[in-house]
Amino acid sequence: MICTLAVLPLVAQTRITMPKNKYKVQDDIKLGRDASREVARQFPLLNDNQTERYLESVGERLVAAIPPEFQQPAFSYQFDVVNARDINAFALPGGPMYVNRGMIEAARNEGEMAGVMAHEIAHVALRHATAQATKQNSVGNQLGTIGLILGGAIFGGQGGAQLGAIGAQVLQTRYSRDYETQADVLGSQIMANAGYDPRDLANMFRTIEQQSGGGRAPEWLSTHPNPGNRFENINREAGRLNVVSNPRKITPEFRRVQERLSSMPRARTMAEIQRDYQRTGGRNTQTQSPIANGNYSRTVAAPSARTRVYSNSAMSVNIPSNWQDFDTSGQVWFAPEGAYGSEGITHGAMIGAARSNSGNLNQATREYVDQLLQANTYLRQTSNQQRATVAGRTGIATVLSGRSSVTGRNEVVTVYTAQLRSGDLFFVATVSPEEESYRYNSIFRDMVSSIQLND
Ligand SMILES: [Zn+2]
Repeated sequence: MICTLAVLPLVAQTRITMPKNKYKVQDDIKLGRDASREVARQFPLLNDNQTERYLESVGERLVAAIPPEFQQPAFSYQFDVVNARDINAFALPGGPMYVNRGMIEAARNEGEMAGVMAHEIAHVALRHATAQATKQNSVGNQLGTIGLILGGAIFGGQGGAQLGAIGAQVLQTRYSRDYETQADVLGSQIMANAGYDPRDLANMFRTIEQQSGGGRAPEWLSTHPNPGNRFENINREAGRLNVVSNPRKITPEFRRVQERLSSMPRARTMAEIQRDYQRTGGRNTQTQSPIANGNYSRTVAAPSARTRVYSNSAMSVNIPSNWQDFDTSGQVWFAPEGAYGSEGITHGAMIGAARSNSGNLNQATREYVDQLLQANTYLRQTSNQQRATVAGRTGIATVLSGRSSVTGRNEVVTVYTAQLRSGDLFFVATVSPEEESYRYNSIFRDMVSSIQLND
């Protein structure tokens, strides 16, 4: 005789109860909105369309997979990339989420990246930030007090001090262990619903723990403490869920974005970003996007003979005191008013580093100049590589020129290159209309020789 039994899962998926919360849903939204403004002011956002669009598509897939009982129609989930090297991600009440570039680069597949996002989305959907404030502060019910409880990693300095009073320093809750467990469970359920394997969430946590030895992920671990047996518990939950037979792992989009990120100049660490922020007295050069805010003008003031020192964690340089500086995704632009905008700069200089695998200055320079020529089709190379001293090192100068569509005049671009100790290529590209060269040549020479590199 054969005993036939209907096969049922032995254990159902874990049920989650929304934690007690005395705050209104609107309070979550307001806290998150205030804090996200501060994040945009203090953190360098990558602002790369392709990466951003990709992150949003993954985020939207996850948000659509939140179980109906935890969906908050008033929340607006948004996804931004912070151009920082550390493996970190954080979500603010009401939905704004930030994923560090280092997190995307460290993930071994899309599922691992989505896992961290699903975990963060779970914290938001379960309203853990205000729930925790409810637990810790049963007396006061003013929003202002939450800011103190949810103190986070927003930097000090002038900007931070101004903000303190309004209690909007909600950067990141240090979640309790039971909330961590809830976020792991709901995060796993969201992943399974969205076509991912929740085991990738467990794998990513293991990666984060392993990398924290190198000091790359302490922030994430201190705000999301391991509630104990995290890896095993997530895998157990995964066994209770319906995981599709072919979960999303390495997708073409994931591969493209990782390649794109690895071709960009190395991102700063959060510690370096904080140092730079404090050094400039809380004036974040990032929020003023030269691309978004610039306007070209027919008359551009001549470079001031007086100079000022610009410095960040990577270098310092003397620039004319009437030039502004813009830190844009790893490059710094220096230009006077009226000389910057969506087509780059018409007068001034751009300084940065480019990834190089060749270890050979001539070849790395050729590759970099080729990229410049491809991106600026109106330019032609008008000199061979010439020896030059750049930041006290043996370097190369290459001259390009062509008729600029912005000014309608002939433009001269001199590209100075030298090698960084990492093997990457350091570059300075100086730009001016040809007929104004006489005003700029000596300024550019002084600028290039004043550069000090901290590599
Ligand atoms: Zn967490």
